[in-house]
Amino acid sequence: MNEQLKLSSQEQAELLNISPDYVRISMAAAIELGLKPGRIHGCGCGCINLLQNYPEGCFANCSYCGLARERPGLAEENSFIRVDWPLFSTDLIAEKIAEKEAESSVGRVCISQVQDHRANDDLIGITRKVHTAAPEVPLSGLVNATTMTVPFLEQLKEEGIDIIGYGLDAVTEELFIKTRGKEASGPHDWDYHWEMVRAARKIYGPLNVNCHLIVGLGETDQDMVNMFYKLKAEEIAGYLFSFNPEPGTTLQDQTRQPIQRHRRVQLAKYLIEEKDAERDVFQFDENGFITSIESEEELIQDTIDEGFPFMTNGCPDREGVMACNRPYGSYRPGEEFRDYPFKPTGDELNLIREQMQLNGELRAG
Ligand code: SF4
Ligand code: SF4
Repeated sequence: MNEQLKLSSQEQAELLNISPDYVRISMAAAIELGLKPGRIHGCGCGCINLLQNYPEGCFANCSYCGLARERPGLAEENSFIRVDWPLFSTDLIAEKIAEKEAESSVGRVCISQVQDHRANDDLIGITRKVHTAAPEVPLSGLVNATTMTVPFLEQLKEEGIDIIGYGLDAVTEELFIKTRGKEASGPHDWDYHWEMVRAARKIYGPLNVNCHLIVGLGETDQDMVNMFYKLKAEEIAGYLFSFNPEPGTTLQDQTRQPIQRHRRVQLAKYLIEEKDAERDVFQFDENGFITSIESEEELIQDTIDEGFPFMTNGCPDREGVMACNRPYGSYRPGEEFRDYPFKPTGDELNLIREQMQLNGELRAG
């Protein structure tokens, strides 16, 4: 075992740059705040995404995650986390957020928890630093359901957090157990996740709670569609991510979903959420994948033309416009967009149509 892992929490705090005094920041947000040089193609970054930092990464063990406990190496040594999420002092980040807020405005700040015995206290610590420096900036907590409690959810609201996100990730109980729960030697429990999702929904109100959902963990389109209806009925937001195999993880050899599938799922989600599509318009093959959407041609074409179905899903800014657009969250620089951090138009829509093969197997009724 690496020597660092033998240190007590107190020794780690003194010797290592860990939360709450240090925090990781997404590369896009670091560029936006001037902490890293560079430019993100085609978009600004409306949300400053922060991630707690501990030498062990995360004590959960989700089979697709670069921070998982059993992934070889310290979190610090993993290229995913080192390259994509640079580490800075929380005070410096809070200061930069305040400066940016004074110049224009910061759409939102999101603080992500990992599974660690310090994570709840440190979420409060980081939230206070940011909230004190920039009191008007909307705050999301992307929290760990397993260590969440109702009183803590209430406290987070008092601290200024107005949206709670959960990484549900797997859309069926079976897949959840396999990738995040017992079968993955992980601590997460499906029922407790739902208990905490619903508790947050009660405290924070309609659509102020969201579940991140990953397309490509092993679910079918039908599973996805069922989840979209379930979330809609409970007024909980669902935010799509695209599975991208992370080297060194259990699922490193699992292939990504074809882009055609991703586009169809994005369209189905938008039709359900925004156009009130009924269940029976979605036709599935024997494996549970969408074969056709039996809806008016014009409705489908107009919906595609809007461009919104193919944008990144994320928490809004104070005007209600999507702020968390996570450039490179679902694809690497140079790869095709899975979700667009801006509204696709013109040639991008032509490409989306091609990718979806709407005139092939998928037809409007
Ligand atoms: S709980 Fe989150 S950070 Fe931890 S291993 Fe699972 S997905 Fe990764
Ligand atoms: S959508 Fe973005 S801001 Fe909202 S909880 Fe998820 S990562 Fe955070």
